[in-house]
Amino acid sequence: MKTLYNDQSPARRAFWAVFVYLMVGVAWILFSDRVAEAWFPDPQTLSMVQTWKGFLFVLITGAVLFMVLWRQLAKDRVLLRLQAGQRRALIRRERQMTVLMDNLPGMAYRCRFDQHWTMLFVSQGCTQLTGYEPDELTHNRVTSYASLIGDADNERLICEVEEALEQGQPFALEYALTRKDGRTLWVWERGRGVEDDNGALALEGIILDISGRKALENELEKLATQDPLTGLCNRRELSRILDEELARATRYQRSLAVLWIDVDHFKDINDTHGHAAGDSVLRSVSQLLAGSIRTVDAIGRFGGEEFVIVLPEMDAESAQDTADRLRRRIADTPQPLGDGQTVTLTVSVGISAYPEHGQTADQLCAAADKAMYLAKERGRNCVVMAHLHERLHHGSWRSGEL
Ligand code: GH3
Ligand code: MG
Ligand code: MG
Repeated sequence: MKTLYNDQSPARRAFWAVFVYLMVGVAWILFSDRVAEAWFPDPQTLSMVQTWKGFLFVLITGAVLFMVLWRQLAKDRVLLRLQAGQRRALIRRERQMTVLMDNLPGMAYRCRFDQHWTMLFVSQGCTQLTGYEPDELTHNRVTSYASLIGDADNERLICEVEEALEQGQPFALEYALTRKDGRTLWVWERGRGVEDDNGALALEGIILDISGRKALENELEKLATQDPLTGLCNRRELSRILDEELARATRYQRSLAVLWIDVDHFKDINDTHGHAAGDSVLRSVSQLLAGSIRTVDAIGRFGGEEFVIVLPEMDAESAQDTADRLRRRIADTPQPLGDGQTVTLTVSVGISAYPEHGQTADQLCAAADKAMYLAKERGRNCVVMAHLHERLHHGSWRSGEL
């Protein structure tokens, strides 16, 4: 490359070439004239020699000119070929990039790192992803990309991107996007910081629609935490909530109560009206219970016809009132069997309270479960409070070993 960017300007080089040519020419004329005059004193012969000398000069300078031009033109041809090859490679690369960009599953972008996420370039996938044409989104012509994201998410995203940039790492983001037609999508974005042509910071990356994956995740989460028959929390989820509430109660020295509820003679309903009717009753009882507690309380189905309710910040006395209220409500409300008929049923309830009946979730549940069995023994349709400082079963209520 050094020859392309030679320090000497073309005019200077041309000047030196002509200068050398003139010097050589003048030297040749002077020198050869002297020699010819010395060697050929006869004027006629001298005149002829000078003519031939002129021819010789023209021949030599012509040969030199040919050599110089030939060398230069050959160089030019190499350069032109190189340029044409580079141009073809560039066009090919651009075409490949366009095909790649247009066939990407999401939207490739380059944007400024500003409060609007001002798009400098977006691929054709923009239309399918956002509903806006690339022209509408670039340079915020119709709307800014930031306006498709909620304010709270925008702030979170800015923090996440800043953090990644500080560490010199690429960033990966997940957020909801509102399309032009008002539909909300979940997207996943991966990008990195780059310098634009002016040396300013820009972001480059790709954004993919992950709504399908998100729906599947939600569905799986629901399956993992919900009881499919009643829609209440399942045993695992309620255990997790109890652990969480108990940790909070311990930290802030608050009370907490657990109600263990079992439907009385439920087997008779199944035996008399069928399993489907039993299911209908279970659904209805669970709705009644769930609708009769505070929003801070949590209810779960622990198995068959057993329900557990966690009552945060509730002492034993208030828990007794709540349990009595629930028991009466169940007894007073006929439950649908699903065939137009109804059945009246009752429940037995065991109560335990933190801290008097146990310090751990296992102890509290075991105490409430045992109190519920006492309620059965006392004739059912009643509420029994766990005994103070009672030595409880071993085994774990979580695994159903009680
Ligand atoms: P107790 O008053 O002593 O509690 O009597 P019970 O009949 O309620 O007690 P038991 O544990 O003997 O019977 C519980 C019944 O609940 C047995 C089982 O057939 C029924 N069951 C358990 N899970 C389901 C379910 O998902 N759907 C229906 N329909 N019945 C169920
Ligand atoms: Mg029962
Ligand atoms: Mg039972």
